[in-house]
Amino acid sequence: MTKWCKAACFLVMSVFISASFAAQEGGASGKVLINNVNIFDGKSEKLIPDMSVLIEGYKIARIASSIPVPNNVTVIDGGGRTLTPGFIDAHVHLQWNVGPYEFFDSPPDYHAALALVEARNTLMRGFTSVRDTGGAVFGVKKAIDQGFHPGPRIYASGAAIGMTSGHGDYRSLNELPRQLGGPTETPVERLGMSVFADGVPEVLTASRDQMRRGAHFLKMFVGGAVSGLRDPLDIVEYSFDEVKVAADEAKRWNTYLAVHAYTDRSIRQALEAGAMSIEHANLLTEETMKLAVKKGAFMSAQTGFFLAPAPDSFSPAQKERQQLAADGLDNMMKLAKKHKVKLLFGTDFVGSMETKKLQLDEFTNRTRWFSPAEVLMQATSVNAEVLSLSGPRNPYPGKLGVIEEGAYADILLINGNPLEDISILTEPEENLALIMKDGKIYKNAVE
Ligand SMILES: [Zn+2]
Repeated sequence: MTKWCKAACFLVMSVFISASFAAQEGGASGKVLINNVNIFDGKSEKLIPDMSVLIEGYKIARIASSIPVPNNVTVIDGGGRTLTPGFIDAHVHLQWNVGPYEFFDSPPDYHAALALVEARNTLMRGFTSVRDTGGAVFGVKKAIDQGFHPGPRIYASGAAIGMTSGHGDYRSLNELPRQLGGPTETPVERLGMSVFADGVPEVLTASRDQMRRGAHFLKMFVGGAVSGLRDPLDIVEYSFDEVKVAADEAKRWNTYLAVHAYTDRSIRQALEAGAMSIEHANLLTEETMKLAVKKGAFMSAQTGFFLAPAPDSFSPAQKERQQLAADGLDNMMKLAKKHKVKLLFGTDFVGSMETKKLQLDEFTNRTRWFSPAEVLMQATSVNAEVLSLSGPRNPYPGKLGVIEEGAYADILLINGNPLEDISILTEPEENLALIMKDGKIYKNAVE
């Protein structure tokens, strides 16, 4: 690089970067005082009435019944609205927004572009943090964190680790595994959705490779799936030793292993091997729920997919498996409540941005088993607990999911009281009056 180029390139880059930052939504991260609100703090069953919240930079600086107006502050009259922590979705796939054929037949930048759009949609539904449990989103996360595009905080596992004929195996039957002369890389791996690993050494390499790429936790498919092509629902995927080596590797990185598992056998094996977050979990028994509680593991449930009719694109076998999992959901939720397991709030919608609009229905779906306050706690402080389990790998190491002094200023203002009528959350265009993430305002319809 010549001297001239060095200077010019730097100048061009600086202009580009500052222009991009200027284009971001939200505005300056100064002081904001929100008066006259009733607070749902993420942890208590009741609202704290008539409060004021002062935000300085990206944190909540003060919460009191009355706060003197400081200099250079933007004052917002909350008008008696409910102020809550930003919502957290513990199970999303931001990268997966189209059907399977289009997914594998589109270039990675198309998926990245759609993921950014979906990231904005997610934020505008009030989700200020998500846990992405499989997919290529590290670049999307980086662009959002740099302020180039609106979106939630992203905790990501990177590619999910899967075995031959496991949940991640979408290969044609005419394709051989790499070890038996097949291609060294398949489309699902090229797109970063999942990675094949068979046997302890390969699982170890795949685990380390995700950490190398910046994963905040690991994700592994350890049991049959509803939507899988080659894996019947009843099977246990991976041996105990293979799951344990991933869980141990995660622990060495001071983070944790999350696993996809529906059946009791696969969940039990994963818990005994050290997995800390069980994704789906529909078919577990009471004994295994007790084991999860004893181990301090999280149950990461989703309802929307099971309470809706099976998609037309499903084969009869997939439809049957969906019914089985749907039948188990009610029992699992009742066990979760009875044994007070740490129950996460997640949605797991894939394959269509239209379907992802149903994300907020998870709030109303859960009132079959839980009070609105309990559901709101799951979507805020309980989910925040699993995010913090990433330890030193946590990309946002402050407090999330609560309204407390010193916590990140991820804040929503809601028209009405969701503890009385949680269905108001399903209409964010009308009822979500303010969305703040990291102290920046992304929507302000308070008037
Ligand atoms: Zn998933």
